[in-house]
Amino acid sequence: MDQKELREIENRCIQEEPAWCMAECPLHVDVRLFLKKMAEGKWDAARKVLDKTMPFPGILGRICDHPCEKKCKRGEVDAPVAISELERACVTFTASLKKVMLLPDRGKRVAVIGSGLSSLTAAWDLIRKGYGVAIFEPGSYLGGSLWNLPHDLLPKQIIGDETALLQNTGVRINLKAAITPERFEEMYADFDAVYIGQDNEIACDFGLAQTPSGRIRTDDVTRAASRKGVFAGGIPEDGSTRPSPVLNAAQGRWAATSADRYIQNVSMTAARPHEGPMKTRLYTDITGIPPLPRTPVSDPEEGYDKEAAIGEAGRCLQCECMECVKACPYLEHYKSYPKSYARQIYNNLSIVKGDRKANTLINSCSLCRLCETVCPESFSMADLCHNARQEMVRVGKMPPSAHEFALLDMAFSNSDKCALARHAPGESGSAWLFFPGCQLSGSAPGHVTQSYSYLREKLGNRVGLMLGCCGAPAHWGGDAKRADAVTAQLKAQWTKMGHPRPVLACSSCMEMFRKFLPEADPVSLWEIMAREGLPETALNARAGASAVAVIDPCTARHDTGVQESVRHILRETGFSVAELDHSREMTECCGFGGLMANANPDMAREVIRRRAGQSPLDYVAYCAVCRDHLATTGKRTAHLLDYIWPDEAGPDPAERKNPGYSLRHENRARLREKLLSELWGEKTEETDACEKIVLHISDEVRDRLEDRRILTGDIQKVLFHVQNGGAHFKNPKTGHWLAVHRPLNVTFWVEYAPSGQGFEIYNAYCHRMIIVEEGK
Ligand code: SF4
Ligand code: SF4
Ligand code: SF4
Repeated sequence: MDQKELREIENRCIQEEPAWCMAECPLHVDVRLFLKKMAEGKWDAARKVLDKTMPFPGILGRICDHPCEKKCKRGEVDAPVAISELERACVTFTASLKKVMLLPDRGKRVAVIGSGLSSLTAAWDLIRKGYGVAIFEPGSYLGGSLWNLPHDLLPKQIIGDETALLQNTGVRINLKAAITPERFEEMYADFDAVYIGQDNEIACDFGLAQTPSGRIRTDDVTRAASRKGVFAGGIPEDGSTRPSPVLNAAQGRWAATSADRYIQNVSMTAARPHEGPMKTRLYTDITGIPPLPRTPVSDPEEGYDKEAAIGEAGRCLQCECMECVKACPYLEHYKSYPKSYARQIYNNLSIVKGDRKANTLINSCSLCRLCETVCPESFSMADLCHNARQEMVRVGKMPPSAHEFALLDMAFSNSDKCALARHAPGESGSAWLFFPGCQLSGSAPGHVTQSYSYLREKLGNRVGLMLGCCGAPAHWGGDAKRADAVTAQLKAQWTKMGHPRPVLACSSCMEMFRKFLPEADPVSLWEIMAREGLPETALNARAGASAVAVIDPCTARHDTGVQESVRHILRETGFSVAELDHSREMTECCGFGGLMANANPDMAREVIRRRAGQSPLDYVAYCAVCRDHLATTGKRTAHLLDYIWPDEAGPDPAERKNPGYSLRHENRARLREKLLSELWGEKTEETDACEKIVLHISDEVRDRLEDRRILTGDIQKVLFHVQNGGAHFKNPKTGHWLAVHRPLNVTFWVEYAPSGQGFEIYNAYCHRMIIVEEGK
């Protein structure tokens, strides 16, 4: 990812776009933050927010014509937040700035003609930027027509206090100044720039180009007049005769920015896209927000009292997007949102080894694409993380701990022990090809056997069988090379078998097949079953059964054909189907997708617990991994096939235990053995010597091994290594032995003691890291 790509990605996330109130405010006061502080009763903090962007808050806070309110999102629910009354309350209950920070003197001077709000703002901004400023006011007071406003609205003393603050900064004040064409020429010669405020009429012909209404014509962006170095503001917008106080102030500000750039001889127009009222791309969902009537002002003359102000500020919706963060526990966990994650990920890719926290951030996303579905801009955190993973693998920065177990699991599924590709018994060609996937084979091998005979019965005998893994773990882990190798092998076998149409029982396999073998036109087992009819074992087996909730796997999010078929099958089987809030397109991942469970087991546990708690009904999943993961939480969850082949599922399918990693391995190997022997009459190879080692493992230790992703096969390898002279040590205190072995990237330690014909296992742990031995 380069800087340009990063910008493009960041730009897709609109979370940092201004709220409507701020966008519409010509000065871009951070109204949302202001209201947050007000609602919390933090008066000084709220005042600070105003002081930051609002010139003369004591004045403007009382007289602003509040264009922000017209766009306030709360107005779409009931009535806009009373922003202007709240600003008034804030400046009433807080004190003005005591000290003003000025930049060092630049040795340049600007003349400001008039002292209405636009002139005062121009002077205020320029003096703080380090310019010498002189105000030329024809009247006897600073403030011009501000003095004409009703005292209730703007007490005279406030005008005095606020302008005194300006005087204290060192601005030179010239009252009763004669503004004539000659005087203007002198100013033009003496000063580096001149600002003319037109908030109040100044009877002088400055010799500048004018509008038909007799105002000085200025550039819309820079407020530059027709003569170099002269700027003007305080002019009602075209078509309006009513002066807008906040717009006047803003025009003074924009002119000050231009005068600064003009004097410094830099472009007056470059990088000024965000001045003045603007459109915002922000999205805020207001569905379900209850109406809350506007708090009436406590006193028509005094405005809100403190309590009422806090109440009214609390009506602010604190507009933001965060749709994806609300939907995804992973995004929520890292306490930010995709725009900022994009930057973190970009920064991490440029660090040599990568930062551990950022690596985990990249590897923990389940790639489920829920964020993309709910995001108004379709921001894909999945793509961002997946691309980052590919980059990390490509440059050798991916820590093995993230995905090693899943990659080894995939390799095992595709090894000679588990993989198989055959035409149906007695056939020399295949029109169809059943590919159940490694997860169903590992979780419920009996369902594979049954489904295969069902398919041959319904589709004719020319249904071939292929056992193995589709390569999803390598693809998810960003290991493009390994994923390509697996898919190329599958494709070669499919070609060799005469291009049969694949029938898939796993939606992750479906996603992979559609990616690498679209020409095969894969179809799901569920669509076939819905179309061809269910076997006797399923039909009405559960008539009158209570409702079940369907768990759609995240990889079937957009597969409406599959979703419908599954629901149809369930209804045919006698169930009534209830929909979870998070189903179909809005479904959530079970915590296994994208290898989340490998890279961040704690996160995966949090995700699955949340999923388990979404309904008191029994769940039915049609992905073996979703089923098994939910089973780990104790949530009653059956696999759809459990109700189609009830004999394979035990008396209560929803109580079927998660087989765990070791048994899954064993199941895959046994499935191949069984099918080869029963259907093709072939005998499989002898079991490896190490597999004959007998282990005694308590349930407690077994759970620990499962958490640490240590297989019984791994332990057998370590003990076999010991039997062949590998290192092992005795702990004299316990009498237990400790053995260590590193078959590949993973180092295993096993604590054991000989027991009968085998070994009692007390503990085992492992490190998934690449160890480079000295000298190598
Ligand atoms: S609800 Fe609050 S944040 Fe949203 S536009 Fe209105 S004032 Fe601004
Ligand atoms: S886990 Fe799913 S919803 Fe969350 S960021 Fe990743 S792809 Fe998006
Ligand atoms: S949904 Fe998420 S990624 Fe999309 S704009 Fe909102 S905060 Fe950004």
